Amino acid sequence: MTTSVDDGAAGRPALGDAAAREMKQRLEDERRRRASQLGVLEQSVGQTSVEQTEASDYARMENLRESLTEIGSALQRLEEGTYGRCEGCAQPIPAGRLEILPYVRFCVKCQGKKNRSAR
Ligand SMILES: [Zn+2]
Repeated sequence: MTTSVDDGAAGRPALGDAAAREMKQRLEDERRRRASQLGVLEQSVGQTSVEQTEASDYARMENLRESLTEIGSALQRLEEGTYGRCEGCAQPIPAGRLEILPYVRFCVKCQGKKNRSAR
């Protein structure tokens, strides 16, 4: 199920080639791990009646699905060469932040703004 774009060095991404490759690897690992967590959870919830299923299980499944979506779009951005740029202000997101949150879409400032307006 891989979309193998091995030599996609055409458009220069914000990230260097090696760094982008490494990040792709990381995101794919992360995606695999979460997909299998979600699979396990879905199976156990599937075997449990609705009344007995913990609300927290649903919340966890929801979380996993969300992060899978985020990881998927981060991988897409990686291929398109837009990865690592804030979707709010188009500035590069600091490498340290990407290190901790590889599929983050916003820089700290824009994330803060977004969080404030979300509540
Ligand atoms: Zn920003």
